[in-house]
Amino acid sequence: MQINLRFGMHRDTQLIHEQKHNIDGLVVPAHILVYQAGVTSVFVASMYDKPYVLDPMTFVFQNKKGNLFNSGGRLRASINRLCEECFPELADLIESLGPVETLAPEAVADVPSLCKGFVEFQLTAVARSFASSKASKYLSRYSTTAATAPRCVLPPYFRFAAVRDAWYAVSLQCAQAAQSLFPDQAVAPVVCCPVSALGTPAIELLAEDYASFPRVFIWLDNLNEATASSTDIGQCRQLVGSLSDAGPVPEALYGGYMLMLTGHDGLDALSHGIIYTQHKSYSLTPGTGGAPERYYIPKLHQFRSLSQTDLILHQHPELICDCSTCSRVLGDSPDNIVYYLDNPEMLRTHFMTVRREEADGLSGRSLADIGDELRATHAAYHPTISALPNPDAFVSRKPMRGLDYLLEWADAFS
Ligand SMILES: [Zn+2]
Repeated sequence: MQINLRFGMHRDTQLIHEQKHNIDGLVVPAHILVYQAGVTSVFVASMYDKPYVLDPMTFVFQNKKGNLFNSGGRLRASINRLCEECFPELADLIESLGPVETLAPEAVADVPSLCKGFVEFQLTAVARSFASSKASKYLSRYSTTAATAPRCVLPPYFRFAAVRDAWYAVSLQCAQAAQSLFPDQAVAPVVCCPVSALGTPAIELLAEDYASFPRVFIWLDNLNEATASSTDIGQCRQLVGSLSDAGPVPEALYGGYMLMLTGHDGLDALSHGIIYTQHKSYSLTPGTGGAPERYYIPKLHQFRSLSQTDLILHQHPELICDCSTCSRVLGDSPDNIVYYLDNPEMLRTHFMTVRREEADGLSGRSLADIGDELRATHAAYHPTISALPNPDAFVSRKPMRGLDYLLEWADAFS
């Protein structure tokens, strides 16, 4: 299972360099690249041995008009730059909407021009910004002087609520237009929908419609792995398996350990941020909301707030991670969890190390074996952990309190 890191913040660049042995590649959101073009392109070029893709981020234009504007009544700077770089007409379309209106699928009329703009941007942006950046001279530090092209291009895409939704048709048209406009490029469309849009007929249609592409990215809108039912997970498995059987290599945008298990159905790669965005809702505007500091408990395959981790590790010191970072910070004392509060970069290092181990640990293991382990973890820790005070909000949602999600995963996979 390949692990691609979704790039989010420039403060993380040094950490990512230090941890690059734990990742296979990068996913860079286009609005970050256009807004901080020099430093972002230099960062991408400095990671020359890690293939990258640019996420065109076109789903943001499905937001309410008000969410796309800043308090001064102007289109948010990064979104405005994205329009300017890729398809200026989009900014005009958004400006023409009423305050609570959203873009209508019919308004996306000139699909070929939209595709041309967003794909040409992906093919040239890093090299272009890199060449004009004063920072590019520092690249000799990383023994590279040239910027590489992305490993594949992502056509503009939109989130659909059902396959009969007009946005499904627009996204498919964009994918097909990109393929005919750029026949020499690996075109990898994004299928973005909630699990509720799936079901056997929809999955069969998707697999047929996308069969000719070499790779398809799957984004299951707002799929929280800790609250997904075994039925939901079954739908994810069927989608991955059907796409893989039809031809394309499936890859997931956003996901955690549960989605990694669909590697048995054909999932090739997964991306997420560092300790955030293991799942994502399309309706959140980029750049809003901060991620709380959380600790990833390897045995539970989930993040917990530091305060809840403190309670859990005091109850079960054997759950203390044995990676080199945790050995240094925690030693064998749960009391030392407080040191992570002041050293968030160590929380990230720990997570990236554990994620790599999870990904590598899947090869050669049967789903039956993994299912047995998940059930055993539930049996050993659910009774005490579900009874702890101050549970994190997401686990307090019935019926997913405690570790019941492990049973849903086990049921769905074995
Ligand atoms: Zn650790």
